[in-house]
Amino acid sequence: MEYQQILNTIKLELPSLSHTGQVASYIPELAKVSSNKLGMHLYCINSGHYSFGDHEERFSIQSISKVFSLTMAMSIFDDELFQRVDVEPSGNPFNSLIQLEYENGIPRNPFINAGALVISDTLISELKNPKQDFLDFIRDITENNNIAINPKVFRSEKECSFRNAALLNLMKSFGNIKNDIEEVLDFYIFQCAVEMSCKELAIAFMIYANGGKKLSNSTQVLSLQKTKRINAIMQTCGFYDEAGEFSFRVGLPGKSGVGGGIAAVHPGQYAVTVWSPPLNPKGNSALGMYALERLTTLTGYSIF
Ligand code: GLN
Repeated sequence: MEYQQILNTIKLELPSLSHTGQVASYIPELAKVSSNKLGMHLYCINSGHYSFGDHEERFSIQSISKVFSLTMAMSIFDDELFQRVDVEPSGNPFNSLIQLEYENGIPRNPFINAGALVISDTLISELKNPKQDFLDFIRDITENNNIAINPKVFRSEKECSFRNAALLNLMKSFGNIKNDIEEVLDFYIFQCAVEMSCKELAIAFMIYANGGKKLSNSTQVLSLQKTKRINAIMQTCGFYDEAGEFSFRVGLPGKSGVGGGIAAVHPGQYAVTVWSPPLNPKGNSALGMYALERLTTLTGYSIF
């Protein structure tokens, strides 16, 4: 497959599209990022790296971190984890409170904020140093020891995380949060504040394309069965109330973040990431979705 040629075509097409989206501003520090940033990186199992644009510049991974925290939790716990968080698409915005009330504090899935907060709670109960362990996990699968958080983004979100605090309080009232609310919030915001480039994210996401194994040395990071399950949750829940649209237009399991990143995989083939900060009204990178739609159109293959 001529991936570099395909990426070059996508690169040429993208700037001609009008910037329909808005850079996330509810976390003030994210609003400072230039809306013109644009990068894409494809890491193929058989033939290596392809890229264009700002693919080596780090950005705030935000909700893409939810895939990593779920991976850590699923490697520790078995099915009991899913008594506290479901695996159904929510059909609601990522930070919605509505369903939680009538579904008794059990979040719809681990990729909306409520679900990721429950996952953070389970990790705090189990790990001695959750923040360090989280960074170590990402550093391990990316094989890069200097991946870190952006402290300004961390502080910025801490100052305005009223909605995530509300989600935690509501779930605590139903008994679905075991630890101190401040501690869970702090750990969750830490995860969102990790910065990675498209290239680093594509390397990290290779485990989901490669049956749970690192490509470099075949270490099994997560079992094949659990990896398939994470891909299934990405497919059905990775884009909040736009998961159906992403399946329809792109057809790959993936996860977005309000920093403008999207990471996706074609199991057995490649991991691919795009970064473009302006978001569509559902909170997903507008150009990122378009770039991935063009990728599966021009290659002729999606998981369907
Ligand atoms: N840190 C953000 C939040 O909790 C992450 C949201 C996202 O990327 N969709 O609101």
